[in-house]
Amino acid sequence: MTVLSGRELAAEIRAGTAAAAAELAGAHHPPRLSVVTATDDEASAWYVRSIASAAAKAGIGCEVEDLGARATADGIAAQLSALSADPTVAGIILTTPLPGDARLAELAAAIDPAKDVDGANPVSLGRLMTGLPAFAPATAEAVLRLLDHHHVELEGRRAVVVGRSAVVGKPVAHLLLDRNATVTIAHSRTRDLTAITRQADVLVVAAGRTHLIGRDHVTPGATVIDVGTNATPDGGLAGDVDPTVADVAALSPVPGGVGPVTTAVLLRHVTDAGAASRGR
Ligand code: NAP
Repeated sequence: MTVLSGRELAAEIRAGTAAAAAELAGAHHPPRLSVVTATDDEASAWYVRSIASAAAKAGIGCEVEDLGARATADGIAAQLSALSADPTVAGIILTTPLPGDARLAELAAAIDPAKDVDGANPVSLGRLMTGLPAFAPATAEAVLRLLDHHHVELEGRRAVVVGRSAVVGKPVAHLLLDRNATVTIAHSRTRDLTAITRQADVLVVAAGRTHLIGRDHVTPGATVIDVGTNATPDGGLAGDVDPTVADVAALSPVPGGVGPVTTAVLLRHVTDAGAASRGR
């Protein structure tokens, strides 16, 4: 069946972002992204490096504010507020995990929604759900862009989202609903997951469980978007969907599916935020 690659789409988005960044720089308004991190988690460090390198290639300045794993919630919130007030900063992201029992939604409330390029502030999610302009979480938007890129029809079709986090599952479900799909959200307490996922014309999986979804979970001919990124013992990356599902359904690969599109969307949000701030 079809492989729903994200690489070509990511390149297309990156080209537009680089052009927008060059235009902003030409107008003496160079776009800058601040990445706030407060962890010594290796996967997070890898993610930050990949964002910084992609930003550099797009002509976006990227500063990492590393507050260390012993940072307090108040210290992180203060840093986010200071960056929100800094007119030279276009976009802000706060990486996870966070120290202690600090909660992303609570701290991200300190990010100005106009600079909230990964849609982490609860206000951004609320605005999105009520149809007001807001940045969607980049991963959620990437799923929709990937579906559109591969001309997957959504209107009137049955979509199932596995996962209900505020950064992926819930916003993806909302974006699908906005496109007139009939949406079911499944989670760890869902009974008979197989019966639910088999109803899907479009199945989006964001559970963070290696190969949770196998061939039995999927109706032949369905479209399956795998958001999962799980580290393998050999240092590789595995999705939430068993690759053999591609024998019966159109499947986005891991790596090379949602991942590259997410990074591209995130950086596009930075130039969009930079362009919007010129008018203020
Ligand atoms: P999360 O906050 O841990 O949420 C996981 C969700 O999956 C929860 O709602 C959980 O249900 C549900 N779930 C867990 N086990 C399940 C099971 N056995 N059956 C059904 N549902 C189950 O994770 P997340 O932040 O949403 O991320 C999900 C995955 O996407 C991870 O692999 C993450 O690394 C990946 N990700 C990828 C990108 C990208 O750009 N490609 C970006 C962000 C995240 P409960 O709510 O009941 O616990």
